[in-house]
Amino acid sequence: MTMFEFDPPLPASVAIHDSESRFPVRRIFCVGRNYAAHAREMGKDPDREPPFFFTKPADAVVDSGSSIPYPPETEDFHYEIELVVAIGQDCFDVALDRALDVVWGYGVGIDLTRRDLQLAARDKGRPWDWGKSFDQSAPIAPLHRATVLGHPATGRIWLAVNGDVRQDANIADLIWGVPEIVSILSRSMALKRGDIIMTGTPAGVGAIVPGDKVTGGIEGLGQIAIDITPAVASRRAGEAA
Ligand code: MN
Repeated sequence: MTMFEFDPPLPASVAIHDSESRFPVRRIFCVGRNYAAHAREMGKDPDREPPFFFTKPADAVVDSGSSIPYPPETEDFHYEIELVVAIGQDCFDVALDRALDVVWGYGVGIDLTRRDLQLAARDKGRPWDWGKSFDQSAPIAPLHRATVLGHPATGRIWLAVNGDVRQDANIADLIWGVPEIVSILSRSMALKRGDIIMTGTPAGVGAIVPGDKVTGGIEGLGQIAIDITPAVASRRAGEAA
């Protein structure tokens, strides 16, 4: 038996709709610009270039209903409502017509973004991690099993800040749909059970501040809600809480 120097943490996990068990998260992949109107609002052409990906650490996930402190080192903290895909089978180089077979289920997530850091990195050709992959940057609502729900290809996707609708689109407008995303991603690396894919956000992204209540949903997949709270006061290792 392997001995560890300290107890390894339990895996990060996402709630499952109508279930006591949780979906253990292995990795989080995110698709870049995947709705034409959002690509345009980010100053890019929505030409059908191959999709590109970035990642978040698995432990960036937080449940719907969470209070999320305003993150450090940003002055432009953005929401991005997204369709979430949960992988249920280990696979590599999956054919397009078999791609949905490896999908365990679906959910609603928010790709929280430090936009100022992301754009500064993008414009200098640097990695996006500091803009995208920070603590608590992936709130995800309870997942729905594909065995119950099927594979939604259409449905309203929306997000509101303090009740004011800011994003309102349809997942049918994804430039790259779920089968294509899974098939293409699986050519680059083996996907495994527990991997999560955030499929990209529609137009209407914008800033949120402490005190904001963010809600969103996808038709048939339920809703998500988070509260943005004041930034955590800095605390250095060894100092009292
Ligand atoms: Mn996104």
